Amino acid sequence: MNLEQSFGVIVIISGPSGVGKTTIYNTLRAFRQKLHFSVSCTTRARRGDEVDGMAYHFIDNEEFEKHIQNHDFLECANVHGFYYGTLKSELDYIKNGENVLLDIDVQGMQRTQKELKSDPFFFSRLVTVFIMPPSMKELERRLRGRKTDSEEAIQRRLANAKGEMERWREYDYLLINEDSTASAEALMKIIDAAHFRTQAITLETWK
Ligand code: 5GP
Repeated sequence: MNLEQSFGVIVIISGPSGVGKTTIYNTLRAFRQKLHFSVSCTTRARRGDEVDGMAYHFIDNEEFEKHIQNHDFLECANVHGFYYGTLKSELDYIKNGENVLLDIDVQGMQRTQKELKSDPFFFSRLVTVFIMPPSMKELERRLRGRKTDSEEAIQRRLANAKGEMERWREYDYLLINEDSTASAEALMKIIDAAHFRTQAITLETWK
């Protein structure tokens, strides 16, 4: 009998802009199949070489409003002056045994937790991870290194980062991203361990 086989887990990952989440995901992709990176909707403009439908669904305010009215979102929030929302349909991948990774901010994590509390199937498979930079100085260096944001956007992201970083205790796990390969390896262990939590195991496992 293999306890890992049946369903995937939902992993919420938060951390300030520029902390290196994308690099960690790319490393993780190379390690693992069975990962679904949730694609959020956003009203912010595309940045650098981001592809519509891969990085985000880039939509306008009107389309975003429509999704709200149709109750399509698991959660949505205003981050750095733009709207971001996670589609409920993204979670269904866990039913096929895939692990779903949600890269959302602290407000999004809280709302998702609250929303899923009424659904034991999803709630029992939810794990939350906060990713921290080694220092504020290093975070600023990484944000500037991206060369995709204006000075104003960088300042806004740094100010937001401080507020978010103070809330790391609200998460199940904390990673300090000194090195993206080491962080990806740690994240993989967290995902693996989540499959063995008693509350995530269904009685059908023994049928
Ligand atoms: P960025 O614009 O740098 O891609 O993302 C900015 C912030 O928005 C990040 O902290 C990211 O985690 C958050 N974010 C991305 N998608 C969502 C979402 O669907 N919901 C929420 N609440 N936050 C999101």
